[in-house]
Amino acid sequence: MDYIELAKNTEICKNCKNIVVGKGNLSAPIMFVGEAPGRNEDEQGLPFVGAAGKNLDKLLEKVGLSMNDVYIANILKCRPPENRGPLPEEIKAHTPWLLKQIEEIKPKVICSLGNYATKFFLSDCDVDLMGKQPGITSVHGKVKMIELHGKSVKLIPLFHPAAIIYNRNLLGEWEKDMEIVKNEFNQKNLF
Ligand code: URA
Repeated sequence: MDYIELAKNTEICKNCKNIVVGKGNLSAPIMFVGEAPGRNEDEQGLPFVGAAGKNLDKLLEKVGLSMNDVYIANILKCRPPENRGPLPEEIKAHTPWLLKQIEEIKPKVICSLGNYATKFFLSDCDVDLMGKQPGITSVHGKVKMIELHGKSVKLIPLFHPAAIIYNRNLLGEWEKDMEIVKNEFNQKNLF
């Protein structure tokens, strides 16, 4: 089964309004990867258009970046009911599509937003190993080189922008982490 069919075969995909593939600059050197679409994303068919997305816009703007400077996608392409967390079987069925996007976009840097995306990349995309990975609180801002499709990619784990809405204490940490992202972005050899 191809990667699109694999995702479409999941219950969440049969029950969602829109499949949320991604948005932004397809030649961006930096890709952001979130968790899953929420209600607004499901309605509009675009990632990060609800409250978390508005916060991400604001947070990127602070360091002179916009959504157009990056490409943004999620671990899951469809909204789980009641915004519950992604299930391992769903991650297994939806991430081949994400990996195909990464293969095509060829980002030099991936910013994983929150626990699910971070644990997925830290476990070398092996969903069964995600439970063994450290949480975002201990790894945010710690740059790690990972291998994807035979290419080295810099992984920068970041807090999820939704978490920052609920816990303003995370803002200072986010701002420090974003300096790392901004420095990456300003490196000429990134393009
Ligand atoms: N949260 C995410 O992780 N992704 C979205 O697209 C929206 C909210």
